[in-house]
Amino acid sequence: MSTSDIRLDKNGIRILKPHGRGTCPGKPIRRIRMKAQYHSWRKAVLQRDKYTCQKCGTRDRRKIITAHHKTPLWKLVRKGLPLFDVENGITLCRKCHDEEDGK
Ligand SMILES: [Zn+2]
Repeated sequence: MSTSDIRLDKNGIRILKPHGRGTCPGKPIRRIRMKAQYHSWRKAVLQRDKYTCQKCGTRDRRKIITAHHKTPLWKLVRKGLPLFDVENGITLCRKCHDEEDGK
């Protein structure tokens, strides 16, 4: 596979150009599926928590409410657990999320 068959979009995901006939698109497609799963997981977590930060209780969308994995992704991968379980998600604002990550 030559690098000309690949481009990087703004999210850094490799996508094969449509003319890439005969090349194996396995890996890039898997990554895109992961991204779609992540987005639906994030939305499910935010909706369950009613877009409210579960730590400080802010509902200010300007503070960028985000969905945080209670168990880090790498641990889930290592243990073979589902990566996008809503039960493992928690809604946090950006400030609280940064604090969680800083631990
Ligand atoms: Zn917060």
